[in-house]
Amino acid sequence: MAKQATPTVQKYEYQAELKELLHLIVHSLYTHPEVFMRELISNASDALNKVRFRMLTDKDILDAEADLEIRINVDSKEHTISIEDSGIGMTKEDLIKRIGTVASSGTVEFLKELQKDKKNLDAQLIGQFGVGFYSVFMVTDEVVIETRHADKDSVGLRWKSDGKGSFTIEEIDKPRRGTKIYFKLKDDAKEFAEEHRIKHIIQKYSNFVDFPIKLNNETVNRVEALWHKNKSEIKEEELNEFYKFISNDFQDPLGHLHLSIEGAVNFKALVFIPQSAPPVMFRPEEERGLHLYSNKIFIQDDCKDLLPDYLRFVRGVVDTEDLPLNVSREVTQSSPVMAKIRQTLVNKILALLEDWAKNEPSKYETFYKNFGPIFKLGVNSDYSNRERLIELLRMESTMTEKGHLTSLKDYVSRMNTDQKEIYYLSGESRDLLEKNPNLEYFTKREIEVLLLTDPVDVFVIPSIGEYDKKPLKSIEKADLDLEKDQDDQTERLNENLTKSLIEVFKETLGDRVEDVIESKRLVDSPATLVVGKEGLDPQMERMMKMMQKDFSGSKRILEINTAHPLIKNLSRLNMGNSTDPLLRKSILQLYEGALLIDGNLSSPTDFVNRMTEIMIEATKG
Ligand code: ADP
Repeated sequence: MAKQATPTVQKYEYQAELKELLHLIVHSLYTHPEVFMRELISNASDALNKVRFRMLTDKDILDAEADLEIRINVDSKEHTISIEDSGIGMTKEDLIKRIGTVASSGTVEFLKELQKDKKNLDAQLIGQFGVGFYSVFMVTDEVVIETRHADKDSVGLRWKSDGKGSFTIEEIDKPRRGTKIYFKLKDDAKEFAEEHRIKHIIQKYSNFVDFPIKLNNETVNRVEALWHKNKSEIKEEELNEFYKFISNDFQDPLGHLHLSIEGAVNFKALVFIPQSAPPVMFRPEEERGLHLYSNKIFIQDDCKDLLPDYLRFVRGVVDTEDLPLNVSREVTQSSPVMAKIRQTLVNKILALLEDWAKNEPSKYETFYKNFGPIFKLGVNSDYSNRERLIELLRMESTMTEKGHLTSLKDYVSRMNTDQKEIYYLSGESRDLLEKNPNLEYFTKREIEVLLLTDPVDVFVIPSIGEYDKKPLKSIEKADLDLEKDQDDQTERLNENLTKSLIEVFKETLGDRVEDVIESKRLVDSPATLVVGKEGLDPQMERMMKMMQKDFSGSKRILEINTAHPLIKNLSRLNMGNSTDPLLRKSILQLYEGALLIDGNLSSPTDFVNRMTEIMIEATKG
């Protein structure tokens, strides 16, 4: 039974630490005073959660039938705000111990340090130190709390403070359970007396609070905590709407995951893979991560720590009870809870992608074409999932139709038993790659070559080293395990002629090349440039050159096709007179022609002038 309210007003001094804290709050510059609303709603929501939990086992409490809700009243004329909940309420001891004390010692020191470093104390931090309630003193000079605990024998209490040195508590007649906080706004905080302003703040910070929030009698948080519902209860339409709401995308998502994880770590998550990459996707500083909730209370909307960089296109929310709401970003980052959530999320997202790759290949291809350039970088950064990520790689090849992709696994399944290596060729576009002379050998023998056209590929594919015990090799490299065709009927220059011609080539080209050798790979072209064993992939070099003007790259090896009529002609000239100017000119021209195909010819003028001279010779008849 409620006790009779006594009129005595008792005065209490704040704990010294709290005084300092209040001083800091009121006299420091805050960037987001609006967070006071989030803090008060969050406290109200906590109190409602507590009473809801208690009622699971104990119906014998005050006001057992009360609606669980938060009522906010804003009076734009009087500049007053009140926030009332039907939650668990507070006892006198709560008011003294919880409201009048700084929960964790060291908080004030920490805040002071922060202030020293940053000059501006960010109000976003306030809620993260267990002192959220006091943020209200950013917008008012005096606060009143009226509260009554849910225990039947509790009394109504009024707490009042100017936020300076002391507070008072008196018993009042309050028949209903719960807490009401009210105050008059300071002159410089009058903007918060505008209903639409408060509505906006609620929608920004508390839209997913699980209890109705009524602002001047109108419910303003229409969005439910979808992720807390059962999968079967959620309509696809709702999912799509929710996705658009949190991502600002106008299209439906490509797919989603709804997780409810219990065990070593507990969390619920609703994450989405977008249909296509937004324009800012490739500008990391503009990206947003997942929204983090702690028990339906919004904590952060750009929580990058929940996903590795290579999954940064994933959108959605994660809600965990394992993180206290009053946790700072710094703490969040290093929290083992976050690490566990992240691990589970990555695992589940990869499983989803694996499922698409297997059962819905065209969906996977859509995903891969949009996000592949980001996603495949995981191979180089997430070593614990490296094998899975390698299986998820896709690329075009000489055996796929233009625009269609294959996996390494499928490539290997098509290999002949005598093929020991996996071959790739990288470059700007498929059309260019198909004309590359280095491909001739492979085309003739129907050996599949992966065609890599995404610039990122040259960082990823060579780093794989080998797949299924088969080394991955660029066909532009000299150390390929190529066999001479046994029943090759083409007539080639004999060993001596070849040796002698190679000498002239070397003499003419000097240190332009690393070496000149007889080619095993050319069929239709007279010559080609390849990279030495230690050299970078040529496509990688091209990119380095684009980024660094003075990047010279490694020297190339020139391979000559001793079955080609031009090479045979040159050999004949060489036999007649090894210093024949036409022979020397032709060698330079062949070399520069190969450079041209490679995209590495720096001066076309010499090339064209020499060509003119050679044409004059050829036509002089
Ligand atoms: P935090 O919420 O981070 O613990 P606060 O300073 O915001 O820090 O609140 C201190 C404590 O006061 C809360 O933990 C809670 O016990 C109590 N409290 C605040 N607001 C309410 C409320 N509306 N109903 C019940 N208890 C409350």
